[in-house]
Amino acid sequence: MSLHPQFIIDASYLAAAFLFIYGLKRMSSPVTARSGIVVAGIGMLVATLASFLYFFGVAEAARPHLSVNITLAATALFIGTALSWWQGKRVAITAMPQMVALYNGMGGGSAAAIAAVELLRTDAHHTLIPLVVTIIGALIGSISLSGSLIAWAKLDGKIDKTWRMRGQQVLNGTIFLATLAVGAYIVFFAHGHADPRIVAAFFAGALIFGVLMTMPIGGADMPVVISLYNAFTGLAVGFEGYVLQNPALMIAGMVVGSAGTLLTLLMARAMNRSVANVIFSNFGVTGDEQQGEIKGSMKPADASDAAVNMRYASKVIIAPGYGLAVAQAQHKLYEFVKLLVDAGVDVKFAIHPVAGRMPGHMNVLLAEAGVPYDMIYDLEDINGEFKEADVAVVIGANDTVNPAARTNKSSPIYGMPILNVDQAKQVYVIKRGQGKGYSGVENELFFADNTNMVYGDAQKVMVAMIQAVKSLEGGH
Ligand code: NDP
Repeated sequence: MSLHPQFIIDASYLAAAFLFIYGLKRMSSPVTARSGIVVAGIGMLVATLASFLYFFGVAEAARPHLSVNITLAATALFIGTALSWWQGKRVAITAMPQMVALYNGMGGGSAAAIAAVELLRTDAHHTLIPLVVTIIGALIGSISLSGSLIAWAKLDGKIDKTWRMRGQQVLNGTIFLATLAVGAYIVFFAHGHADPRIVAAFFAGALIFGVLMTMPIGGADMPVVISLYNAFTGLAVGFEGYVLQNPALMIAGMVVGSAGTLLTLLMARAMNRSVANVIFSNFGVTGDEQQGEIKGSMKPADASDAAVNMRYASKVIIAPGYGLAVAQAQHKLYEFVKLLVDAGVDVKFAIHPVAGRMPGHMNVLLAEAGVPYDMIYDLEDINGEFKEADVAVVIGANDTVNPAARTNKSSPIYGMPILNVDQAKQVYVIKRGQGKGYSGVENELFFADNTNMVYGDAQKVMVAMIQAVKSLEGGH
């Protein structure tokens, strides 16, 4: 007895769905996350390979196009796999957010492309619900494509972080409503058989809206935006999966859509903002127009003095940030921390939810260096402890420890929860110079009475600190 291709396809999609969801579940803990990625990846492989079986179950009428289609699909698959493999291998971890934004945009674009094919097919017989779903998927997918590309360009420093003009909201609103009106025309008046120029106008409107919506967003808000587009792509893929009646696309789209939505809400909450506030307000966009005079001066300190001070402290809390990733200093940092722990110091790591350039960035770095999970604390669990700490060490962090977020109402980052490092008895800030953080806002922490600046690349500073503590113990 031979199995019907459709049965194998359905069974494979079911297996893929289980693998996606089980993989996602495993990603919820750093201990199992790595295997979770592998499991979900196998799910994707199963779903992709199973899709090729469609060629063997297709109706007789489609057979003349079969070899063309299979060649095109296999070529696209080969080029896509090769490119992403090559890029994934060589991407620096600090450039990961850009890559995620780019691939996310591609997902949205693919969903929009599926919708475009459906809307341009002359032989299609459209019914109302699938047509509405096609249009919504096309709209969301296109916005996600162009918006993600702008996010990629901003994160990569290819375009200025923010771009605003008078009446921006009115212009955005007008373009969005006009695009919706064209979409409604395609559905209700043309019944899915509109002139290709009208379909093109619909896609152009959605793509332009994605660009305009993302251009004014900057400051510390990019993580929320990227996560929002991730959710959009998931939704668009889910909708187009419904149109194609493809369960794998529906399930993968729904999983990405709901996980992305949850992540967006969590990130917005971590920034103490609503999602609407991030997208529609000008808050958080620039560092130019802030902020009162900062009093005090920056006081430099020697790496070795700071290290010795920590060696004789009883409680030290470390706040890592983007600069730790740039310097790749996580291994040296942990080597230093082990020396402190051996000397009886209570050391903890404090993680801000948007430290670095992607969600979980610091957790990934510290895990890579072998830091045990029970030394790593989230913001809300550690913030009460800073006032008992003898020393707080800020290593390559800036925005996430800026007290202006708590105290200065005119600051673009006002309202974002921060790590309360300023409440420790002594603060050491390790950074190379006067560089600002991602939001471009000046940091009054650096000028505080209890803060000293340890200037230098984070890795070099850690090497000096390790040496200082070792020589104290009579080592070399
Ligand atoms: P910041 O970007 O605020 O600051 C990083 C600091 O690191 C800089 O001030 C820089 O100062 C210093 N630095 C850079 N290279 C080195 C080096 N080699 N050695 C030592 N220091 C170095 O970092 P945070 O982690 O505090 O904040 C993250 C910011 O990024 C937030 O505004 C967040 O909203 C945003 N963001 C976060 C994303 C996420 O998902 N987590 C995604 C996109 C943006 P200097 O040049 O003087 O050395």
